[in-house]
Amino acid sequence: MRGGRATHAVIVGNGIAGYTAALRLRHMQPEWRITMVSGESTFPFSRPALMYVFLGHMRYQDTKPYEDRVWRDVRIDLVRAWVEEIDVGGRRLSVGQHKIMEYDRLLLALGSKPNKFGWPGQDLDGVQGFYSLADLDRMTRTLRRTRRAVIVGGGLIGIELAEMLHSRGIPVTLLVRESSYWNNILPKEESEMVTALIRAAGFDLRLQTELKEVVDDGHGQASAVVTSTGERIECEFVGLTAGVSPNIELAKRCGLPVGRGVLVDRSLQTRDASVWAAGDCAEIVGEAGQRGLVQQVWYTGRMQGDVAAAGMAGSPRAYDPGVWFNSAKFLDLEYQVYGSVNLSVPGERSSYWERQDGRASLRLVHKDAALIGVNAMGLRLRHEVCERWIREAAPVHHVIENLSEANFDPEFFRRREPEIARALEGQLA
Ligand SMILES: Cc1cc2nc3c(=O)[nH]c(=O)nc-3n(C[C@H](O)[C@H](O)[C@H](O)COP(=O)(O)OP(=O)(O)OC[C@H]3O[C@@H](n4cnc5c(N)ncnc54)[C@H](O)[C@@H]3O)c2cc1C
Repeated sequence: MRGGRATHAVIVGNGIAGYTAALRLRHMQPEWRITMVSGESTFPFSRPALMYVFLGHMRYQDTKPYEDRVWRDVRIDLVRAWVEEIDVGGRRLSVGQHKIMEYDRLLLALGSKPNKFGWPGQDLDGVQGFYSLADLDRMTRTLRRTRRAVIVGGGLIGIELAEMLHSRGIPVTLLVRESSYWNNILPKEESEMVTALIRAAGFDLRLQTELKEVVDDGHGQASAVVTSTGERIECEFVGLTAGVSPNIELAKRCGLPVGRGVLVDRSLQTRDASVWAAGDCAEIVGEAGQRGLVQQVWYTGRMQGDVAAAGMAGSPRAYDPGVWFNSAKFLDLEYQVYGSVNLSVPGERSSYWERQDGRASLRLVHKDAALIGVNAMGLRLRHEVCERWIREAAPVHHVIENLSEANFDPEFFRRREPEIARALEGQLA
């Protein structure tokens, strides 16, 4: 409260972390003034759905989690503008070029930025990441004159982008530094499965190949790339999908401590008592000697938005990351991961089953005979069951005996369960 007026909470960024916090805060503090400022769009939308907008499976308006009128109904002011500066001591923001906004509590929910590694030509027209609405627009424009595309970097966004280009009949070459697709995240067999799938779908996948430079056509547009193997590939579109990094520029400029992300404690408060950070941009400082925690997925953004709002409202609680989970698709191959997989935990072992056609697999990772991780490809497992098994360190024998409990597709499991269980059990000895 300043000068008798209602406490003003400002949230910068209207992604999942920002809008979850705004709604939670409204619930906890019905009288506060709440403003959400975001540069990309006035209304929140679902970032993972951008691909489906491109493919024509969804309209942009259907990616909004709430109808536009909801924000007025819950008295959350939406301002579309970029925040340029923060005067942390004076609790003021410069919004756009001329406007100053005062705040009592501030949340930074600034998201991520696609990585660029200083490649010559990386800022040419036709070279871009795939993160924002502006990226979607830029890509749509470039593709009108694109005959061939190159994607730099593997991972989930790289494959999404390849699929999007493929849908327009544009040939795609993928340059991937690793010796097998995403093998820094996926275990060896699953990575090989994805590598084979990408090739079978007709993509030109170049492993152990990096981008050296993007060639200018003489008019500021990309016309080719040169790879680390010295090859020149003609292309008009270059997609940069070599990961994302927390968007920390604004916090850094205003003097808040940053590491890989905006540094926060477990209640997501920064060093300044009036400022919090949540979602992709935040880094939760670890215990002495431990690496900080940066989480860049949808559900963790929602959980962090919730915790940050509690702190801003005056009821701080510690963020509990729970059991790690991610799910996605590699082309039409479902992928789910729970807990610790491919992290080389000392003493871990894994039992692995793969279907003969190489289009489905299940890996149970265990330590001291207790389950610590699950990786599933081409199978859909029940989230609550896998999470419970890992949280409770279920004996791996018990997990194998009760696999059907975790399965979404009873028909498949009735046919396959004995074979899967036998294969997994056989590797425990
Ligand atoms: C193409 C794509 C597909 C994805 N698919 C999945 C998926 O399937 N599953 C999954 O779990 N995750 C997925 N993710 C990741 C997920 O979308 C992110 O983890 C999540 O959106 C992060 O939410 P956030 O609220 O932290 O930030 P963001 O959603 O990035 O929102 C941050 C907002 O802050 C705004 N902002 C930044 N700086 C300023 C400033 N200075 N002034 C004003 N506004 C500012 C930005 O414009 C942006 O709108 C995907 C990401 C991408 C890019």
